Amino acid sequence: MTAVAIDGPAGAGKSTIARAVAKELGFLYVDTGALYRAIGLYALRRGADPKKEEEVSPLLAGLSVRLCFVNGEQRVLVNGEDVSEQIRTPQVSMAASGVSALPGVRAFLFELQKSMAKDNNVVMDGRDIGTVVLPDAQVKIFLTATPEERAKRRHRELLEKGETVSYGAVLEDLKKRDYDDSHRAVAPLKPATDAAVVNTTTLSLEESVKLLLGIVRGKLK
Ligand code: C5P
Repeated sequence: MTAVAIDGPAGAGKSTIARAVAKELGFLYVDTGALYRAIGLYALRRGADPKKEEEVSPLLAGLSVRLCFVNGEQRVLVNGEDVSEQIRTPQVSMAASGVSALPGVRAFLFELQKSMAKDNNVVMDGRDIGTVVLPDAQVKIFLTATPEERAKRRHRELLEKGETVSYGAVLEDLKKRDYDDSHRAVAPLKPATDAAVVNTTTLSLEESVKLLLGIVRGKLK
């Protein structure tokens, strides 16, 4: 099986670009952030503080997180309920970042992510795919862009979904998540030593996809 690992901070364009690259290659697109979001949502619903291991860990025993694919589009199921829409709010973003620092949560999701790449050719995006989850991935890419550009993109996305949130609040959230994701003890956000680092600040979506496809095809030759 072939794996393309795409990591990087929030708003670098990972999901949109990875989805387009996967489509072009005929690979399955796996968005691992959705798994952390699903656990973040579950913690919030159960009244647990997403940052507290002692509050989140006991919930994992009663929790099943699954991925399924409908017309190639990933859906996330929490105890059988499709929560793919509910996990996209700013509150759940912060909760996802909180639970993702807990070693128990990372261990809980590790096998599920591994098994997706064992059975399918995948383009998998996240924070630690090239470093921890799929260290043997044939292609590793680290996508980045300035915080201001990433906040602009994320803000536009949220407005399109009807959320009322200011650009300043999005930028603050994003910087906080960047900091937390890069400074946590387990699986911090950082490029794998053998990753190609791509900065998308001045690139359009089409340009980014073209550039990545070039890198992927070059490596898979
Ligand atoms: O990519 P997305 O913004 O959906 O991810 C939500 C949160 O999940 C991130 O802020 C990060 O803390 C966490 N995450 C992670 N490891 C991954 C994917 C996401 O820690 N592989």
